[in-house]
Amino acid sequence: MTLPADPPADLLASVRGDAAPVDHNARSIAALAANPGCDRRAVLDAAGVDKDRTAARLGFPARFGQSTFAITRARAFEAQVKAGGAAELARLVGERLGLGPVTARYEDLRGADAATRAAVTGDAAGPALHDHPLLGVEIAGQRVTLDPDVVLFAAGGRFHVVAIKSFPVIDGQADGRKVAAAAREAAVYTHALTELAGTGRVSHEVVLVCPENFANRPTATLVDVRKQLGVLRRQLSRLTRAADLVPEGVSFDPGNEHLERDIACIGARYAPECMAACELAFFCRHEAHGSTDRLGRTVRDEVGGIAGIEAVLALADGGDPAGHPEIAELLRFARSVREEILIPAGGDR
Ligand code: SF4
Repeated sequence: MTLPADPPADLLASVRGDAAPVDHNARSIAALAANPGCDRRAVLDAAGVDKDRTAARLGFPARFGQSTFAITRARAFEAQVKAGGAAELARLVGERLGLGPVTARYEDLRGADAATRAAVTGDAAGPALHDHPLLGVEIAGQRVTLDPDVVLFAAGGRFHVVAIKSFPVIDGQADGRKVAAAAREAAVYTHALTELAGTGRVSHEVVLVCPENFANRPTATLVDVRKQLGVLRRQLSRLTRAADLVPEGVSFDPGNEHLERDIACIGARYAPECMAACELAFFCRHEAHGSTDRLGRTVRDEVGGIAGIEAVLALADGGDPAGHPEIAELLRFARSVREEILIPAGGDR
């Protein structure tokens, strides 16, 4: 592919057309790491394309977001945890980090740059909780400001990101998808904080504070986000090269009559997880009709090399296994197990 001579940022801006770039936020940056193999998402995010609007124009509007009830519940839980100078939060975090019951100074930074810098780079006088820090992340050469709803816990010259979430921990277990999403988001803050405070001063263990069981009593859990940090950093560095993925003449301008054709020029890697993480999910799912991508990454990888669901079913039904003898054997075994379990003796298939 021949690339134009323009610098990448200019190329990506021209791909966006007349539309203004969208602002990234922690959720959208965290979602970058949800499907790191997708070129389409990398290009759209690097160019600052409004994916919500693009999906609507393609006839597949996004349908996710929090309910008013969930937002109210989250706010109430956060206010409860931070009540009284966040003394209960300091105690919980201190105990979880093995520091014993801690008394920490609480400071609301109110999303101010200077206050955040002073808190992160200044000399610490004992343990502290810094609420509403202002952080930043570089995305494809552009500085994105984050005003996160997290607290930074500082003790002994080191910081921990503390994320307060309203999903419950029941009998020591929480919804795995919600924990994974919270870990990806916390990894964004950990990365941004490391950029500001310096390597070695920010722990890769974040403290997740959630309601315990069916009461609203908070409990703290440590989550190691090293893996999420690695994926995020690789994805951020990939976005700086996103211009290399754009074929000549492609445009995502809202007025482009051939928007669907141009979007389809950039390879996607649909997986069911996209439904909770990307505005284009309904479009990409429709596009992936008949493909093993629709069945999820595990199945897709198990039947790697076979193009579509029909071909997989034909192989399971006894079709020619040429080129895929091991997959054919696996599929036929799975089919025989299914029949044994689901189809009563002498019954119809
Ligand atoms: S929905 Fe489409 S564009 Fe978004 S991450 Fe999934 S495959 Fe990529």
